[in-house]
Amino acid sequence: MLQLKNGVYEIGGVAVSQLCDKYDTPLYVYDTGMMEEKFNLLKTSFDGANTKIKFACKALNNINVLRFFKNLGAGLDTVSIQEVWTGIKAGFDPKNIIYTPNCVSLEEIELAVKEGVQINIDNISILEQFGHKYGSSVPVCIRINPHVMAGGNINISTGHIDSKFGISIYQMRHLERVIKSEKIRVNGLHMHTGSDILDVDVFLRAAEILFEATEHFKELEFIDFGSGFKVPYKPDDYYTDVKELGEKLTRSFKNFCKTYGRDLELWFEPGKFLVSQSGTFLAKVNVIKQTTATVFVGVDSGLNHLIRPMFYNSYHHMLNVSNPEGTQRIYTVVGYICETDTFGWDRKMSEVREGDVIAFQNAGAYGFTMSSNYNSRFRPAEVIIHKGKDYLIRKRETLDDLMRNQVEVELK
Ligand SMILES: *Cc1c(COP(=O)(O)O)cnc(C)c1O
Repeated sequence: MLQLKNGVYEIGGVAVSQLCDKYDTPLYVYDTGMMEEKFNLLKTSFDGANTKIKFACKALNNINVLRFFKNLGAGLDTVSIQEVWTGIKAGFDPKNIIYTPNCVSLEEIELAVKEGVQINIDNISILEQFGHKYGSSVPVCIRINPHVMAGGNINISTGHIDSKFGISIYQMRHLERVIKSEKIRVNGLHMHTGSDILDVDVFLRAAEILFEATEHFKELEFIDFGSGFKVPYKPDDYYTDVKELGEKLTRSFKNFCKTYGRDLELWFEPGKFLVSQSGTFLAKVNVIKQTTATVFVGVDSGLNHLIRPMFYNSYHHMLNVSNPEGTQRIYTVVGYICETDTFGWDRKMSEVREGDVIAFQNAGAYGFTMSSNYNSRFRPAEVIIHKGKDYLIRKRETLDDLMRNQVEVELK
């Protein structure tokens, strides 16, 4: 996390200027201190129940980050067989990995079964084929769509009626038929209603719907409430109060367990909550371009490295870390991609000069993992700060990386 100390911006105790000198820009920097703080906050908020936290791999999949969370006691939430393999490589016990794919083939699910991870299925067609093949020999979790509208943006909302995710709560009869005929053993119920939940009560309402659905499943071992915790992006921004959610959900969960007749595990799969604030993205100012309408700050990066502003209209707070004392002025920060790639309009920052470094906050989640080589640009390096020391955890790409897998042929 970026902090101003004695007039110098630092991350986890290391000066930003030192990081830029050593590793160059653009650069992703992660702070393990912040990751641990968030993990512990979530853990203590839900310590009234038997809670398991599965880090959502797709938010930030560097193997060192995965290992860090594993050592804190986290499991892993995966959405592809490749993430399953990555998790196993990172040392996770397959039993602590949940695999929640969407619209994948039965063949891919079979590969996950082979690895021994918890399977989570979200459509009746594949569930039927799964049951036909495995019967009760492989337990399965069912992803339910409770149809509760949550999420800050339509593209990150997954619980609404038009969403492709989950098995509708209204398809319960059909679901039961399939489970019964194929003798499927359902050991968990799951929901994930989307990112950026703005209201604790929305979460609780969805939870109640899941509790009601459990009457159809007698062999449950856990309920997985997915994720969607909103993190603050702007100074004074709204965020999910996990303490309040923890208190309320733990209470209703315990009551539910009494009714159900067994103590179940309570699972979560946060990505953004655990890593968003731990990450800072650093880019250097190439050019300051005054047009008739605005002052553009053009940096040595673009939507190829941080697509969230253009993809989700997300807000990343930006600071000119090279000029902490400078006069506050208004800039529009853009990238170097031949495509409109605006990081932020009309941002107040201390006076920007060419060569200054701009820090983008909340860049830990869905930053590097959504980066690409568009415009034949190299993807950035990644650095992790742990206990005041910096470690390179991913090298900056080179031309060889762009050429790898390309096959040169002679077209006669
Ligand atoms: C993406 C995803 C998550 C993590 O969501 P965040 O908003 O990053 O916390 C959790 N579970 C599933 C199934 C997901 O697809």
